[in-house]
Amino acid sequence: MKILLDCGAGALHRLAQFGLPWHDVTHVIVSHFHPDHWGELPMLVYALKYTTVPPRTDPLVVLGPPGVVRLVKKLAEGYGPWLLDPGFPIGILDVRDREPFPLDGDVSLETFPVPHTPESVALSLTAPEGRLVYTGDTGPSRDLARWASGADLLLAECSLPADQAIDIHLTPEQAGELARDAGVRRLVLTHFYPPVETSDPARAAGARFKGGAIAAARDGDRFTIGGGGK
Ligand SMILES: [Zn+2]
Ligand SMILES: [Zn+2]
Repeated sequence: MKILLDCGAGALHRLAQFGLPWHDVTHVIVSHFHPDHWGELPMLVYALKYTTVPPRTDPLVVLGPPGVVRLVKKLAEGYGPWLLDPGFPIGILDVRDREPFPLDGDVSLETFPVPHTPESVALSLTAPEGRLVYTGDTGPSRDLARWASGADLLLAECSLPADQAIDIHLTPEQAGELARDAGVRRLVLTHFYPPVETSDPARAAGARFKGGAIAAARDGDRFTIGGGGK
């Protein structure tokens, strides 16, 4: 099983550039409907349709909050019917939040509503090796901290610097507070707008998540859960 959490602009080229087996993706899980989180999904399906040798027969499963089925059907009105019938089975499912959704015998997905857009959810994957929580896009949320409690790795957005804080995104400091309040083992920061990208978000988050393991993710970084190390 190979899972993509969101599939924004540039994702496909980056996967190829870093030598990751994007042909073998089995699941795409969408956190919300802003295009920086799904924009390359049609390109992924198109590439799987035309560049897989021999032709793909394995199904592709697309999961997201309620409305993702409608979103992909609407996209197919513009892109073409191949998006829903690419020559291999494609299953698109709305996932209800706060209910474990088994992806196979070992790995379970759960989603949790977050303050960003009405449909936005954070994503949790639990496997025998441990638990990954990805915030998607979110504002500060005590409920999210409780739900993420004890995660082995928290992949948290931090879009904006503290002097531009808004209710529907996190600052690095707020991402640090989320990691602290949830008591996670490791915090990985992502989703930087330029003012954050050109600063030192790990340091800012570290001021609130003292002593915690923190990394500011760069494209191509790899993190392992359960095996130790990066
Ligand atoms: Zn968003
Ligand atoms: Zn976003």
